Amino acid sequence: MRVVRWVLVLSLIATAGMLAQRGQGAGPAPAPLNLPADSPKLTALKTEAAGEVDKLQEMVQQGVDSIFSYAELGFQEVETVRYIKDLLKKNGFTIQENIAGVPTAFVASWGSGKPVIALGSDIDGIPQASQKPGVAYHDPMVQEGPGHGEGHNSGQMVNIAAAIAIKKIMEREKMSGTLRIWPGVAEELVGTKAYFVRAGVFKDVDIALFTHVGSDMGVSYGEGGGNGLISVQYNFKGESAHAAGNPWRGRSALDAVELMDVGWNFRREHLPLSQRSHSVIVDGGAQPNVVPPTASVWYYFRQTTYDGIMDMWKTGDEVARGAAMMTGTELASTRVLGSAWPQHFNRAIAETTYANIQTVGMPTWSEQDLALARGIQKELGQRETGLSTRAGTLGTGVPLATNTGGGSDDIGDVSWTVPTVTLRYPSNIPGLPGHNWANAISMATPIAHKGVVAGAKVQAMTMLDILSKPEVVAAAWDYFKNVQSAATKYTPLIRPQDTPAIELNKPTMDKYKAELKKFYYDPSRYTSYLEQLNITYPTLRKQ
Ligand SMILES: [Zn+2]
Repeated sequence: MRVVRWVLVLSLIATAGMLAQRGQGAGPAPAPLNLPADSPKLTALKTEAAGEVDKLQEMVQQGVDSIFSYAELGFQEVETVRYIKDLLKKNGFTIQENIAGVPTAFVASWGSGKPVIALGSDIDGIPQASQKPGVAYHDPMVQEGPGHGEGHNSGQMVNIAAAIAIKKIMEREKMSGTLRIWPGVAEELVGTKAYFVRAGVFKDVDIALFTHVGSDMGVSYGEGGGNGLISVQYNFKGESAHAAGNPWRGRSALDAVELMDVGWNFRREHLPLSQRSHSVIVDGGAQPNVVPPTASVWYYFRQTTYDGIMDMWKTGDEVARGAAMMTGTELASTRVLGSAWPQHFNRAIAETTYANIQTVGMPTWSEQDLALARGIQKELGQRETGLSTRAGTLGTGVPLATNTGGGSDDIGDVSWTVPTVTLRYPSNIPGLPGHNWANAISMATPIAHKGVVAGAKVQAMTMLDILSKPEVVAAAWDYFKNVQSAATKYTPLIRPQDTPAIELNKPTMDKYKAELKKFYYDPSRYTSYLEQLNITYPTLRKQ
């Protein structure tokens, strides 16, 4: 998911909300919903929860650093979920395994009764993003190996720290409520959340609190910026032959892939401006003197609406069939590898969360934290602004008419199933490219640890609001049913025959795992991962 900067405000009057969001453009910020104020007791419980989170700083540091060191790609997050499940079991959660046929997916539960709060965050890494933490220039631990070049090593610790803090208070206060912790498996492939929805993971959930790393702290409601998407692989079948001796006997499946790419790139000019589409060739043949009998190309088709995504998918299928026809090959099969609905976040929960963001505020950065941030910004030719020191504003959505498209996150599917928000917490550095080694450098340093602690405090306070103020849950569902869903109905992009692409990334992890293992963090011997790696914090390029 890209880190969205919410720059547009729009006038939103309760009943006209959906129409206004359909693109009347910017206007004054809407008046807040009339959510109940905190009682003195709730205020005291929130202060206590923040104190409980502070006591968990060592647990947060160990979790963030351990998961960073595992550096696992989507669907192969084996060590990562072993670590998380062990930690949750130790803290009284019961675990349901193998959710929706995904081996690394689980749901951990604690508590009983209503409300049911689902706490989620992504866990997978980025290919070729291996990077030493705390070092302000490219310095991989494992050449071309995977790494946390987005920061998905941190979000689960936001939720776990918040849940453990709240659990203690719930037990003492005898509060009714169920906490569910679940992982965003293979988010970088937008590979699982639609399947979790289909498997009924959110069936009895009242509120979903999602969290994602950012370089600031913020939350938003309404239509998210960026795009939804369908991820499809096209498999062509030709006929092999000696490429010099009998080329006329062969039919090249690679030719079909190349012509599909050419066709799509011409067609792109005539697609709506908010689209994004990109592809990689995953099978381009074996060697030049064998006419490739098989070839495959993998496409992401992104648009701002469900209908837009479906139109692109249909066009992609047509271009693929045309390429097969031109080359005398066959479009043997297509496979859906992932999907994501465009996002829409809940107003009542966003406003509740935002009030807690203002209470918690940003972490206090050290001179070393700021020096690392300025060092990487200088390295990449960006403005040397250091780290964010002020919490973001409450985002009020990006109207469809002005949404120019961008990244995707399959939390979109959850956001159309139950009232959902995504909390961004400040564990990364502004001005970085995303999906890149540079985004990994802060992710096992005090910047990440402090950002997670701040995020966990916000999450804990918002859980207390949800547990103790039924009006908040009622307002959330009122918005979900009567504003968000008034003009739009959720139809899954995945078809009944589609299944999670759990085989993805296995060959890559098989290739790098032994190398990565040498760098696994051992908290029993080192007080931080930086210490284990013997890295001076920060390490800046010598002038
Ligand atoms: Zn992400």
